[in-house]
Amino acid sequence: MKNKYRWLMVICIIPFLWLGGCVTESQTEGKEKQVKVSAEESNSQSEQNEDTAKNNNGTFGAEGNADIKVTLLGTGSPVLSMDRFGSATLVEAGDERLLFDVGRGAALRLDQIDIAPGMIDKLFVTHLHHDHTVGFADLLITAAVPDPRGNREGDFKVWGPKGTENMVNSTIQAFEVDIQTRKKVEGATGLDAEVNEVEEGVVYESNGVEVIAFNVDHGLMKPALGYRINYNEHSVVISGDTTYTENLIKYAKGTDLLIQEVVVVKGPEEEYQSEAHKNIEAYHTTPEQAGEIFNEVNPKLAVYTHIATFLPEHEATIVDRTKEIYDGKVVLGEDLMTIEIGDEVKIRD
Ligand SMILES: [Zn+2]
Repeated sequence: MKNKYRWLMVICIIPFLWLGGCVTESQTEGKEKQVKVSAEESNSQSEQNEDTAKNNNGTFGAEGNADIKVTLLGTGSPVLSMDRFGSATLVEAGDERLLFDVGRGAALRLDQIDIAPGMIDKLFVTHLHHDHTVGFADLLITAAVPDPRGNREGDFKVWGPKGTENMVNSTIQAFEVDIQTRKKVEGATGLDAEVNEVEEGVVYESNGVEVIAFNVDHGLMKPALGYRINYNEHSVVISGDTTYTENLIKYAKGTDLLIQEVVVVKGPEEEYQSEAHKNIEAYHTTPEQAGEIFNEVNPKLAVYTHIATFLPEHEATIVDRTKEIYDGKVVLGEDLMTIEIGDEVKIRD
């Protein structure tokens, strides 16, 4: 090629090289921007997962002036019911989301309020009766099924009385084949548990939320615990399963909200239908005993859960029987009932 053509080519190529450079640069910038955008998107996505159940003030707690939000996920007992699932209560306060007991259907009820199983990683067990624990395997493992709302990344943390470690480890062992397969094939996380067996006292403190365990009297089921949750000068107490006991009154005194178990095996004037009914009543709370507890505790609101009746007509009598002893505010809980605790304690419509 002659020199003059070479120069002509160089002159022609330079603008293309420059333009090409610009394109490459802008493409790189674009790529960087894209990376940043997708990182932001992924951040906002994971924040969104967390925010799904958060409110306008950016916390898990209740709306407006309320500090604590309590959702009754299951208000039933071992008695099979499509309306009342097994014991489970969700407490949301500030940045904390805590589950108390995990009875039959807990994961389904959580899903109904748009909380994926993977969004729960702190469980407090009151005692080891199956109607409080049978949903554990479901909540543990379903958290690994891909869910756009979020999957559990770390260990499932469990607090409970002596024996909880055995219950948790045995469950994991029972589902070992499933758990190992999910880990290997799907890279599943959140399938290991960290168990803290606790006794009476403060068992958890984080983000201003304090959880206190206390002993209750559930007959031969020992130990059995109740829990008091304090946050921002407000509180909720979960009685756990118990008959009348001074220790419940001591720890629940002055609380905003008392979530109280109740059992009715017969009407006040009726005979026990069996020795089993008599024994069941002995380690649970009758409406009259609950009335005595409420008189001592003086909660702003008392809500019944663990509503165990052996004749359907008995359920409607529970509040009336209580009101013969106690003239404060008491209601029969329902699955998915939400109670907000702030300056006022109110049931959300
Ligand atoms: Zn029990």
